[in-house]
Amino acid sequence: MMYQAFLIKYAEIGIKGKNRHLFEDALVHHIVRALKRVGGTFDVTREMGRIYVRTDGDFDYEGAIEALKTVFGIAGISPVLIIENMDYDNVKAQVAEFVRTVYPEGTPRTFKVVARRPNKKYPHDSMELNADLGEAVLLGCPWMKVDVHNPDVVLSVEVRQSIYVYSETIPGPGGMPVGSNGSAELLLSGGIDSPVAGYMIAKRGVKIDAVYFHAPPYTSERAKQKVVDLAKLVARYAGQIRLHIVNFTDIQMAIYEKCPHEELTIIMRRYMMRIAEIFAGQDGALGLITGESIGQVASQTAQSLLCTNAVCTLPVYRPLIGFDKQEIVDRAQQIGTFDTSILPYEDCCTIFVAKHPVTHPILKVIERSEHKLDDVIEPLMKEAIETTETIVVDGEE
Ligand code: ATP
Ligand code: MG
Repeated sequence: MMYQAFLIKYAEIGIKGKNRHLFEDALVHHIVRALKRVGGTFDVTREMGRIYVRTDGDFDYEGAIEALKTVFGIAGISPVLIIENMDYDNVKAQVAEFVRTVYPEGTPRTFKVVARRPNKKYPHDSMELNADLGEAVLLGCPWMKVDVHNPDVVLSVEVRQSIYVYSETIPGPGGMPVGSNGSAELLLSGGIDSPVAGYMIAKRGVKIDAVYFHAPPYTSERAKQKVVDLAKLVARYAGQIRLHIVNFTDIQMAIYEKCPHEELTIIMRRYMMRIAEIFAGQDGALGLITGESIGQVASQTAQSLLCTNAVCTLPVYRPLIGFDKQEIVDRAQQIGTFDTSILPYEDCCTIFVAKHPVTHPILKVIERSEHKLDDVIEPLMKEAIETTETIVVDGEE
């Protein structure tokens, strides 16, 4: 393996001053975390506004790239050749060898060398490096041609304590490192949408914890396991997630018995939000996250969203609000949650859905219906919270 390192590129906009350290520390932390899934030993270091991942000996190259692609905050991943022996002839020979290996004879290619010399002690400046290394490549690889305006290959050469050579940048996921932007509580169901919603908010640097409402015996152990599995998949990107599994059966039964059936879903969603806010308080979360999208189902019309939202005091992040279903499906496939999401185990909402749910609920009417629960709801909420099972998942398997 020619590459012994990766140069990690990240967008620097908006991360000046103190935030920059927070951003870089979080990024290093998550790179180390993601690489735990990969065979090999890795050393992650910060050097003058750059992050390098170094390896010694054999490592799983493809696996390392895949893992780095799950780290939010990474804009690009460049596999790097490190030249330790900085003798000029050796550098020229190694650069030519690099091009010969990465771009072997075949289709003709154009290139240019872009050298930088942060280490001013090195006796050759960037102009000289561009010219001499370009010449070395032309001599060593006669199929390559120079094109300084529109080259196929930009050969970057950086002179530091060693010399770093790279020519390729694999796109990272972008976003900001998790933990650099507070935390939020995800309402995670077994569906397609909420794992994608969690992914999207985590991508903005927000740490995630999650709440799942299940309704045994109406929902099975397998439905619950599916949600745990989805949480693990989201954790590959988002890092460790505390998952609160709330037994929602008695609350659902009470709503079912006392409230109009066409309002069941809305009232149930309002109780989910209320309970999620309690766990948000415990977890120090600053917002709630749902997978709602306008008009997708009766409980997500503009009127329904108004009624659901009315019980929340925290901001509710709905990153999918303007997405079509197909766009959400595409994203779920891309991030690897889709196949698990479509496993056919009920989530709690499908058991208690009315045949004709209200699509234009009126807040005052919903509130009036909820009053029918006044005698019973407090102890039921207390019981649900006290019997909640909390597990910690991470994405390291
Ligand atoms: P999803 O695919 O995320 O389940 P959905 O299209 O099935 O969404 P709803 O069932 O109306 O839509 O749920 C809307 C949102 O409410 C979900 O995206 C999720 O954030 C939350 N939610 C629904 N059911 C549950 C549940 N059982 N546990 C936790 N959150 C839930
Ligand atoms: Mg659902």
